[in-house]
Amino acid sequence: KPAASPQHRQADVRLLGGLLSPAFDEQSCRSRYTSYLYRRPSPFRPSPYLVERLRRYEARHRRCGPGSPLFKEAVEHLRSGRNAARSDCQYAVWTPFNGLGNRMLALASTFLYALLTDRVLLVHAPHEFDGLFCNPFPGSSWTLPADFPIADFEGTFTMTSPASYKNMKQAGAISGDHLINVTAEALPAYVFLDLIQSYTGAAFCEADQRVLAKFNWMVVKSDVYFATAFFLMPAYRRELARLFPDKEAVFHHLSRYLFHPSNDVWGIVSRFYEAYLAGADERLGLQVRVFPELPVPFETMYGQIMRCSAQEDLLPKVAREDGEARNSSAMPPPDGARKMTSILVTSLSPEYYERIRGVYRGNRTGTGGRVAVHQPSHEGAQHTEARGHNQRALAEIYLLSFCDRIVTTAVSTFGYVAHGLAGVRPLMLLRSPSPEMPAEPPCVRSLSVEPCLHAPPQQVCDAPEGSGIGAIVPYVRHCEDVHRGVKLF
Ligand code: GDP
Repeated sequence: KPAASPQHRQADVRLLGGLLSPAFDEQSCRSRYTSYLYRRPSPFRPSPYLVERLRRYEARHRRCGPGSPLFKEAVEHLRSGRNAARSDCQYAVWTPFNGLGNRMLALASTFLYALLTDRVLLVHAPHEFDGLFCNPFPGSSWTLPADFPIADFEGTFTMTSPASYKNMKQAGAISGDHLINVTAEALPAYVFLDLIQSYTGAAFCEADQRVLAKFNWMVVKSDVYFATAFFLMPAYRRELARLFPDKEAVFHHLSRYLFHPSNDVWGIVSRFYEAYLAGADERLGLQVRVFPELPVPFETMYGQIMRCSAQEDLLPKVAREDGEARNSSAMPPPDGARKMTSILVTSLSPEYYERIRGVYRGNRTGTGGRVAVHQPSHEGAQHTEARGHNQRALAEIYLLSFCDRIVTTAVSTFGYVAHGLAGVRPLMLLRSPSPEMPAEPPCVRSLSVEPCLHAPPQQVCDAPEGSGIGAIVPYVRHCEDVHRGVKLF
């Protein structure tokens, strides 16, 4: 229910409808309570039940999180190598894998998992990840302490790790049935949930979940938005329906709750915004991602962007000196006069920005409006191992999420996070079957704000035999950009 007095309304807007706790110090994380000022109001309101569950989660995190006596106790058990029979606190430790977009999708999914299973989410933050985000949980920390007994995450959590749940099952030492019957104290001190790309089939049966629930420590490594998979499991369906009556806004709420850029990153975001985007009447975000494994030539990609623009009436039309529009299909929109449009281009390369800026240089639009084109950085190549590079990437994801209309590149998790945070259904530049061939159609409007789960479980347990994954529940369907993938609508 909307709050009554103007002060209450203001507080409600600032806390994103109750999503954010008011208990934080503002200066330590300036983005948390100010980013709402940079965006249109969200079309999605968190459910009162989600708000209640988040506050309960925060209380548990304070009770069980780093620095608490219960945490110390749990760490002692972990050190001993034996799983404790009963424990007041259970943990899901997230460890990063792949690019920043992948990481944010996997981290949000791990948090949802923690919410559903009453675990406490902790983050293994290597140097390049450290300092990107503020701590999202009041009165505690989400980062693993420096003296945590497991130090070598990369070496310990690999495909062949014996702690991997998938390998435990396959080893046959403990077959599926046997695992269910085994007592908690007979299990190792932790389990590794390996959910990287094609392995997302490993854990989404109810029998698996019952076994996993016995482990007090779980380490999760993933690069996909596996949150979607929980919506396919009957065991979680009721709870998820209460948490997220609006299926399209799951990541939107989770990401706005969890991801607050640190003051360093916020400095980049706010300076850029004030300098180049604040004065515009409309902000158009264009994210161009050319994957190294699928090198689409510049002219092909640029042509696709222009065809998408013509199809969707996206980029303002340029007027020629004789008053005729340069683009033959251009009909100036009647209400566009004097309008200031800022186009934010994000890409690893500067070429798209340069070409588009060239189009508008010295030209007015067909309606007398003005266009400015900006690109915050052009890093050349992906450098996930470098902190400064990741800070710029996060700043750009955030800046994109401040745009009124967003064009993203198919398959890119960087783009998913940006439009998910924004709460905007993007226009997606589709992938063509071969890099040299133009995509047809050049772009489609996505039917949902949700990210796509690229690698869904091959089989969902308890689903009727032979039912396709896109037909189990009405709100999970195949994605526009990855036909094998699924997403919430
Ligand atoms: P995906 O590969 O498109 O799914 O997105 P990821 O975020 O997982 O990985 C791509 C990484 O490349 C990003 O995290 C950045 O490090 C870098 N990158 C890709 N596109 C951009 C961009 O437009 N701007 C910046 N600053 N970095 C980018």
